Amino acid sequence: MGIKGTIAWKFMTPKVSMVLFQATYREVQNLLMSTSTNVDEINQKMKEMGFRVGETLLMDYADRISQHAGEFAEFANTLQLAYKVNSSQNFTNISISDDKRTLKFTDDNCPICAGVTISDMPGLQYCNIISGVFDAVMKLRGFQAESYQESCKAVGDSTCTWTLNFRE
Ligand SMILES: [Zn+2]
Repeated sequence: MGIKGTIAWKFMTPKVSMVLFQATYREVQNLLMSTSTNVDEINQKMKEMGFRVGETLLMDYADRISQHAGEFAEFANTLQLAYKVNSSQNFTNISISDDKRTLKFTDDNCPICAGVTISDMPGLQYCNIISGVFDAVMKLRGFQAESYQESCKAVGDSTCTWTLNFRE
């Protein structure tokens, strides 16, 4: 999805250096690694952080989005737009299950995992902050849904995948 023309101004957002973001994120991960007892705890803490980040982002954008998603599956577009606004790139792929209860987002060029290779922590969801952001968006928009990170380039997968499951 491109962001062009009359709606573009609404979604302009100030940017910071990608290197600054990645270095800061890496230090947050390092801190979690040194203060957690296992990988699950790291993943959970990063997701909780993402939830709070998501709350802030949604409050910032809520006023600017004129048409909110009404059905769960419509969040495919909402989250694509949010991702584009914040990362300047699109998800590589978004798939919606036949029953429209599962959304899968992938990014083959995940900006969080770029240049990161972690070989000694299997199961680490390095860019799990995205899952937390998704959870916050769903909760604040009144949907019972939960996301988890299914694959992660930082630990050797070919792409980063965040899956969002609708509950009710
Ligand atoms: Zn990633």
